[in-house]
Amino acid sequence: MKKALVCGAGGFIAGHLVKKLKREGLWVRGVDIKPHEFAPSAADEFLQLDLREPANCRAALTLGDGTFDEVYQLAADMGGMGFIHSAECEIMHNSALVNIHMTHAAATMGVPRYFFSSSVCVYRDMAPGEPEMTEAQAVPANPDNEYGWEKLYAERMTQAYGRRFGMQVRIARFQNCYGPEGTWTGGREKAPAAICRKVAEVEDGGTIPVWGDGTAVRSYTYVSDMVEGIYLLMHSELEGAANIGCPQYVTVKELVETVAEVSGKRINVRWTPGPVGVQSRNFSNERIYSLGWRPKVFLKEGIGHTYPWIEAQVKAARAK
Ligand code: NAD
Repeated sequence: MKKALVCGAGGFIAGHLVKKLKREGLWVRGVDIKPHEFAPSAADEFLQLDLREPANCRAALTLGDGTFDEVYQLAADMGGMGFIHSAECEIMHNSALVNIHMTHAAATMGVPRYFFSSSVCVYRDMAPGEPEMTEAQAVPANPDNEYGWEKLYAERMTQAYGRRFGMQVRIARFQNCYGPEGTWTGGREKAPAAICRKVAEVEDGGTIPVWGDGTAVRSYTYVSDMVEGIYLLMHSELEGAANIGCPQYVTVKELVETVAEVSGKRINVRWTPGPVGVQSRNFSNERIYSLGWRPKVFLKEGIGHTYPWIEAQVKAARAK
């Protein structure tokens, strides 16, 4: 039986990835600095460890018999734009330490295959409608935030360790990912979850504040499509970074309208100044498409799964 270590398994995407690996028949150890907030871990074993510490990375990777066949590194000090712009030092410090120590430990302990979760935040800001950028066009680099710079550094470091130690490295640059069992409140939530929460909190006909003017262009990838892409990429021979994203581009205004439609409420928006992030990102999915990956869940359906889950969280929190 193949054995996988999933770092960040107490979080959103890795929590879903553990379930996918279990469905595929692997034995899975999850590791995170905290337990999963919303669901018991589906992992066979869950270790609570701070992966900024080298000894904890080695402990996470230590098995009684042999080594892990696969390591998925999704642990990061992570959040939506509000967090990314207010916690620049924490992100660069904490996520870099996790990546430095986990990559070093995995390579030197003989892990054959290593996945790193990067982000489309490595790309520069774009104007809506600009031609799609390929993975190679991330360089010369100009990410608009420090989170993207840390990801670029970690991508290169992981590839350097791969070359030196013969470790197969697979890197995905995730587009915005959303779905149930992700952070929905507290300041780290991303736009789809934040808007679902705000809509769930107001009465029919109410007004919600949203950062920006609604014209920023985004694409949102549903979490089940994301974990399918991770699994496919990890088991492919595709070297170098590969974007994984749904090619359905929408404005933030359209995102709000989709959430309102799913909720059945009439919603007014008060556009307010805030850390919106880039105006647009428009990138090619040809590399992940070459493996046969296609998104199956588009925005309306994905919000149809996500909104009821967040609405239930809002109701449960109010009842406390
Ligand atoms: P998340 O915050 O839900 O999960 C990250 C997990 O890492 C958390 O559970 C956190 O506790 C854990 N972690 C942080 N510091 C740690 C430490 N020192 N030791 C051990 N665990 C630690 O975020 P997510 O959305 O599931 O993101 C997973 C990965 O995907 C991250 O690398 C993130 O940068 C990347 N990513 C996510 C998105 C998105 O839209 N969600 C987009 C691009 C890239």
